[in-house]
Amino acid sequence: MPSKRICAADREGPGIVTVVVALDVGGTGIKAALVRPPGEIVRLERHATGARRGPEAVIETILAVAGGLADTARAAGETPLAVGLAVPGVVDEANGTAVWSANLGFRDVPLRELAAQRLNLPAALGHDVRAGGAAEARLGAARGVRHVLFVAVGTGIAAAHVVDGRAGGGAHGAAGELGHVVVRPGGTPCFCGNRGCLETVASAAAIARAYPTVTGDPITAADVAARAAEGDEAAVRVWRDATAALADGLLTAQALYDVADMVIGGGLAEAGEALFAPLRAALRERITFHREPRLLPAALGDRAGCLGAALLALDLLG
Ligand SMILES: [Zn+2]
Repeated sequence: MPSKRICAADREGPGIVTVVVALDVGGTGIKAALVRPPGEIVRLERHATGARRGPEAVIETILAVAGGLADTARAAGETPLAVGLAVPGVVDEANGTAVWSANLGFRDVPLRELAAQRLNLPAALGHDVRAGGAAEARLGAARGVRHVLFVAVGTGIAAAHVVDGRAGGGAHGAAGELGHVVVRPGGTPCFCGNRGCLETVASAAAIARAYPTVTGDPITAADVAARAAEGDEAAVRVWRDATAALADGLLTAQALYDVADMVIGGGLAEAGEALFAPLRAALRERITFHREPRLLPAALGDRAGCLGAALLALDLLG
């Protein structure tokens, strides 16, 4: 191969179908896909991460799944050109290292190099939320918008600031920890060691925890939203507190980034207008000098991370 940069278009010819291999590795599951430019999933697989087996076994599973997909592509007459991986935690995209992940037990894993060697293909490594944000900005809800904040609200809260389709990772690969912006000083202790972090009030897990059930049975944030819509007073209060805190967090983000669109994804966004109507109102109340961003539900669902990993791979091809 004369050059590391291969133009996908140069490789297209009669009978040659090019794809990239893309993996979104989560704490419990791996979504793995073959993706055709500019972002069409032609095959999607789901595998268990098996994190309890330890980091070495997880790495082997990632490489085996990626290698298997490349083989599947070749068997179908397609040509895999690159591989993109997205993982959670602290990710040094420039060096291709998974620096730290509580979920996967990773510490300084040179995952890009490992994937490149195993598959004998150019490889890229990214952060799951930043990859998802780039996908929403290039293929999803904020398609074509230059300045975007993607906010994933699930068990925790994380964000990606995307400019011209690329998400910045910060100096140490740890940018976007919106969930640990303090919005309620002196409030509920957070696992990070601080108090009153945004995700102690507004994550799906926090909303579920805050709702007092008579039976003590577990309840989801979606249940709380549904009960709030029915006028259940306790649910209304929990939901109002959560949307107010989220608006506080988004206002801070807007002061920093001045984006055009804020795309809200993760489990909480599935509440739809029950989330977006009060959230827009709460943000509008708080805005002073800021330009009001559009608040949009994510469009790519749980495929965003996988598509973002594919974009990282496609970007290698120029
Ligand atoms: Zn925290």
